[in-house]
Amino acid sequence: MKNLTAVYPGSFDPITNGHIDIIDRSARIFDHVVVLVASNEGKTNLFTRQERIEIIKSIFQENRRVSVDSFHGLLVDYLNSHNHKVVVRGLRVVSDFEYEVQMALMNRKIRPEIETFFMAASEKYSFVSSRILKEVFSLGGCITDLAPQVVIDAMQTIFHEQK
Ligand code: ADP
Repeated sequence: MKNLTAVYPGSFDPITNGHIDIIDRSARIFDHVVVLVASNEGKTNLFTRQERIEIIKSIFQENRRVSVDSFHGLLVDYLNSHNHKVVVRGLRVVSDFEYEVQMALMNRKIRPEIETFFMAASEKYSFVSSRILKEVFSLGGCITDLAPQVVIDAMQTIFHEQK
């Protein structure tokens, strides 16, 4: 493989250790990984797009193989305009599979040269999602091993303000 960039799209609201694990492992295989934060205005996110971007940037500031960008609209349009052809997605449980394969096939239908690489989640993070992290944290549960400190601090601030 020669100078290959992989794009890892997602909501990352917020980024979890499961996402970070996928990014670290991808960055050992591909020359460059773009963590691509979706704007998806339809979704009600806890963090703004800019906050999600800043958090991810701070986590990977030492890793020159990882960069962060955001997009609005179709992933294939982003890939097209940046001339990228490889997408990375994580697979946790069987329920991820159906949606992920559907998306991969749809993207390939729109643009045949796009390839999606699926990485199996690490066992220790296979139950972790941004949604469950927020839910547990908001109810006072401990998420120390599941998200980086910068995320825990940011959630602390938001939930503290909401009280
Ligand atoms: P989306 O809203 O696109 O599903 P997410 O931020 O929830 O965005 O997830 C982005 C990608 O990361 C998806 O492919 C998802 O399956 C994967 N992912 C999410 N959590 C984990 C985890 N704990 N381990 C591995 N992959 C994960």
